[in-house]
Amino acid sequence: MTAMAQAPRIIDGKAIAADLRRKVASAVARVNSAHGLVPCIAVVLVGDNPASEVYVRSKSKAVAEAGMRAVDRKLPATVGEDELLALIGELNRDAQVNGILVQLPLPPQIDSQKVIAAIDPAKDVDGFHPLNVGRLASGLPGLVPCTPLGCVMLAKTVHASLAGLEAVVVGRSNIVGKPVAQLLLRENATVTICHSKTRDLPAVCRRADVLVAALGKPEVIRGDWIKPRATVIDVGINRVPAAEGKSRIVGDVAFAEAARVAGAITPVPGGVGPMTIACLLLNTLQAACAQNGFKGLDE
Ligand code: NAP
Repeated sequence: MTAMAQAPRIIDGKAIAADLRRKVASAVARVNSAHGLVPCIAVVLVGDNPASEVYVRSKSKAVAEAGMRAVDRKLPATVGEDELLALIGELNRDAQVNGILVQLPLPPQIDSQKVIAAIDPAKDVDGFHPLNVGRLASGLPGLVPCTPLGCVMLAKTVHASLAGLEAVVVGRSNIVGKPVAQLLLRENATVTICHSKTRDLPAVCRRADVLVAALGKPEVIRGDWIKPRATVIDVGINRVPAAEGKSRIVGDVAFAEAARVAGAITPVPGGVGPMTIACLLLNTLQAACAQNGFKGLDE
């Protein structure tokens, strides 16, 4: 008799994100009725990149659904760095604005790092300001990047504790790979970070109890790179050609192969993606509460 592989748990990011959004909305209702506070996020969009516009619209909708306020500030693609920095200064000084998010990427005439560094760290709901990056690396409380936070929350729906687990992160970008690794370390996992120069990536991945794929290349991570019963968190969003001249979205992991080996796995779409906006709402609530000395939501 051949042993049947146990079906993996498909980690339903959509449902987990919806649950988090409900929790944020009820905390918003609580601070609103107790203190009259309506958390507000300013979303700055430069230029008219259609993907960014769609993303900003869905952010604004989610913010309204959580009972918060969104202020959208749109600037032309030709805007100068000084003008953008002046807007950031204005939003920093505006006591009604609790969170500031500058939609990336920015046009080439603008130094993104300079813009990120100009945001008041207390309003940095993307968690990209060097002070918040340093706080995370030092194990201090602060605002942390949304997608990495979402990844760790998903992993924690599978493992009550990540302490002592072998975690492998593929990718070392400042927006995903490095902060996800820091957050896993904060959870006491034993963390390895891989990148394009890593030798024998499949062998390193095979050590992982928790594997986070954030390399931005379609289906690079194969089924035989996965340790049996591992938890796989796929951050990748890659558009690839499909039948009849259409396209489809796939992750960085070859899902069907990996699902035969993994214990739990996020789908793409419907895994990490929905957590990003939910975590942005959470960060905006936490920032608004911290600025006003109120208790936010326990993570
Ligand atoms: P990125 O800035 O391009 O970084 C990719 C990282 O992967 C780099 O560190 C690179 O190594 C490494 N890498 C690339 N190819 C590799 C390979 N063959 N083997 C090992 N490492 C390799 O990408 P990112 O901004 O971190 O995003 C990663 C993916 O997540 C993308 O698909 C992006 O669309 C997606 N994403 C999703 C969300 C969401 O909400 N779900 C949010 C953000 C990003 P080097 O440093 O050596 O070049």
